[in-house]
Amino acid sequence: EIIFEQVDKCYGKNYVIKDFNLQIKDGERIILLGPSGCGKSTTLRIIAGLEDINSGNLYMSGKRVNDVPCGERNVAMVFQNYALYPHMTVAQNITYGLKAHKIEKGEIKKRLDEALEMLDLVEYAQRTPKQLSGGQRQRVALARAVVKRSPYFLLDEPLSNLDAQLRLHARKELVKIHERYHQTLVYVTHDQIEAMTVGHRIALLNKGELQMIDHPSVIYNRPANIFTAKFIGSPS
Ligand code: ATP
Ligand code: MG
Repeated sequence: EIIFEQVDKCYGKNYVIKDFNLQIKDGERIILLGPSGCGKSTTLRIIAGLEDINSGNLYMSGKRVNDVPCGERNVAMVFQNYALYPHMTVAQNITYGLKAHKIEKGEIKKRLDEALEMLDLVEYAQRTPKQLSGGQRQRVALARAVVKRSPYFLLDEPLSNLDAQLRLHARKELVKIHERYHQTLVYVTHDQIEAMTVGHRIALLNKGELQMIDHPSVIYNRPANIFTAKFIGSPS
């Protein structure tokens, strides 16, 4: 469970997240949706412990984590820019975090093979990131997060660089992964179709404020305000 309680985040005088209240349930797939610059990535980074908040409280698994560093929050995150290690192969990139966590060799191999298979990366395992396309790099970043099996799985536009066919495939695989490992998934996207099909609930943000949070069908059929109606009604 993740709880935002009256969270503010500012850069200088600008509020990026304002009076933010949000409760994310265990095992839920929640989507953060909204226009560019509305604060989606910042919200994820706050959960991951990569950004401090200026006021309010953040709770994870029943514990106040305002001052808990990223490494102790049990999160796996895929960043918008992937953050791969350039000098390591695909396989090394994917398993690096596991080795650091002293996971047994056989188990590492099992998770690696499964992730390579799932994300269509088997033939690229021995390449380095610069020998890959943008979409392939994105899948490596996803694989690296998947193998961690963290209780909190944070994805920032994880499929933005894939073509329509790959995106559909990867989306289905992600839902399967989620169902298999019972993670709490916080998923940032611009893509309304992705939001509607992946999310148990959608949180719609605008200018750092929560506009509406509900099941996809309710957001779509019964928008609570004009912003929601316009955003959902407009082609993304
Ligand atoms: P996008 O869909 O384009 O990725 P986003 O919803 O993820 O957008 P954020 O990256 O969370 O948006 O940024 C929210 C706002 O905070 C933006 O207006 C951005 O310019 C601002 N911002 C983000 N990081 C910083 C920073 N380090 N210093 C100052 N302003 C920042
Ligand atoms: Mg972003």
